[in-house]
Amino acid sequence: MASLDLGSPWPSQTVEIFDGCFNILIEEGNSGDSLDWLEVPATALCNKLDIPKPPPLPCKTGERPNNPAWPADSCFVPKEAKDTWDRLYREGYGADVCIITENKATISAHYSVLSVASPVLGNFLQQSIVKNGIRYVKIPGVPCEAVSAFVRFLYSSCYEEEDMKKFVLHLLVLSHSYLVPSLKRLCIHILEQGWLTCENVIDVLQLARSCDAWRLSLICTRMVVREFKTISSTEGWKVMKRTNPPLEQELLESVVEADSRTQERLRKTEERKVYLQLHEAMEALLHICRDGCRTIGPRDKMLKGSQVACGFPACKGIEILVRHFSGCKTRVPGGCLHCKRMWQLLELHSGMCNEPDCCKVPLCR
Ligand SMILES: [Zn+2]
Ligand SMILES: [Zn+2]
Ligand SMILES: [Zn+2]
Repeated sequence: MASLDLGSPWPSQTVEIFDGCFNILIEEGNSGDSLDWLEVPATALCNKLDIPKPPPLPCKTGERPNNPAWPADSCFVPKEAKDTWDRLYREGYGADVCIITENKATISAHYSVLSVASPVLGNFLQQSIVKNGIRYVKIPGVPCEAVSAFVRFLYSSCYEEEDMKKFVLHLLVLSHSYLVPSLKRLCIHILEQGWLTCENVIDVLQLARSCDAWRLSLICTRMVVREFKTISSTEGWKVMKRTNPPLEQELLESVVEADSRTQERLRKTEERKVYLQLHEAMEALLHICRDGCRTIGPRDKMLKGSQVACGFPACKGIEILVRHFSGCKTRVPGGCLHCKRMWQLLELHSGMCNEPDCCKVPLCR
């Protein structure tokens, strides 16, 4: 393989040999043609991340079946049934459970309904204190309204959009703790669909992990990698850094890893581009020197003129380069970038030519 060292001086006779090889017709409009075609293209920064895309949800929550007979605001059950269950919860008719929440607020409910809707809650109720036929159970640690929305969902799968948005994190925790998969799916769906912000993503990420919501956790991690600069300066990040250093370490590693993968991919793409360009340039050079193309070719060939189409993608560029090289006044080392390129291509060809004995490329071994 020939060396690509361009610092070595150019013997003047080589330039003459080169000139002698070509029959060049002057073609109009060539003077303005660009010689930049061999430049390595500027790289557009790629923001795509390598953390795998989250898998699709097993089923979409909160969407009603595609049946026009069903009213627009119904869930999976007819409105009447939904209303009946919602009323039973609201009016507490024949309630035999008293749920005690934060600030000693109470919610009335039915043992049988709660037990069927949440086996975990049913288990708690079974072991709870019974006074005058009423079972007492505490659900502490979340606002009373969140518990109320939770219990309502256990009855009818109904909820107010506003409550859901306001208490979605509490409801996620409750649905996970009390094993209510339908509510958990709904909460995760809401969190995934536009609820996340740079400010809350770290909190949601930690919650998602403690609730085994791995898809949501993956979405949060992708967001952290994508918006690292902003997220790493939020209050949530600072608190996490203090309370959960292993998570901080893990996220930092994800960011570094994604970054180096992006760099590596860019480097490989560039390499492939350069390789392809060189390959095309070599093909075109051989084609011009051996067969000739339109208005340029070897002395012993009749030129076909500019009307004939050419199938070599780099032919035009090489032709311009050859025209330049044969007419350039500054053909000295370090003098002209385009001449340097021409020289580089000739050396490269010479180093890899398969048939140097009958080769028509100038300066080939
Ligand atoms: Zn051609
Ligand atoms: Zn030049
Ligand atoms: Zn050759």
